[in-house]
Amino acid sequence: MRPVRRGPSPVTKDFDDYTKALPDLIARIGRYCSYCERPILTQLAVEHIQPKSLPHYEHLRGRWENFLLSCVNCNSTKKDKDVQLSAILLPDRDNTFAAFTYRADGSIVPAAGLADPVKQQAQDTLALTGLEKRPADALDENGKRVAIDRVSRRMEVWAITEDVRADLLADTDNAALQRAAIRTAQASGFFSIWMKVFEGEPAMRNRLIDAFGGTRASGCFDAATGASVSPAPNPDGLPDGGKI
Ligand SMILES: [Zn+2]
Repeated sequence: MRPVRRGPSPVTKDFDDYTKALPDLIARIGRYCSYCERPILTQLAVEHIQPKSLPHYEHLRGRWENFLLSCVNCNSTKKDKDVQLSAILLPDRDNTFAAFTYRADGSIVPAAGLADPVKQQAQDTLALTGLEKRPADALDENGKRVAIDRVSRRMEVWAITEDVRADLLADTDNAALQRAAIRTAQASGFFSIWMKVFEGEPAMRNRLIDAFGGTRASGCFDAATGASVSPAPNPDGLPDGGKI
């Protein structure tokens, strides 16, 4: 899950209509689902971290700090579950890249070596959005076969990323090929898969970090090596940030 910095609100008060925040969010953190990392060209929605449908979060309906972006699948799985900021990991305030391991079989699991409470928070974060589901889990909570879609798409992008890496290794120092690789990454999405496949290759990792909006600004990656920095520096001082 790609860590991002949303940055200060572009408006002085809360948004009167939260949908108006969409262009600013896309400009700051890119046109991707904040949870599953898919590029979303249509139906990308302003996501309320703490759901606006719950009465005790009604006051956060137009609050910039409560916004991310999400696809309909993650949104409908998360629904109106009560989200305690201290209980789950969030890409705008935690190093969610350090928290999870992406595998070639399309699965996502908590990173090895996590200790509680972060391990539990990582598991609960996957469960909140259904990202821990396997293809065998035929139906998501919304009754759609979206688990299959998200897992299979991760497998496809993993294969694409391996192909791109093989091409780059066969023709090192080819700047045009490197730029094409980044454009492919931006189009395919799944930042975390690209970063995993290019583990140990700092130059490419740094290009990826710079290519996805709001990622470098999160402070969750070392400027020289592209290695993950944990805990997240949480530059905007968001509540319960920096759990990992
Ligand atoms: Zn999603």
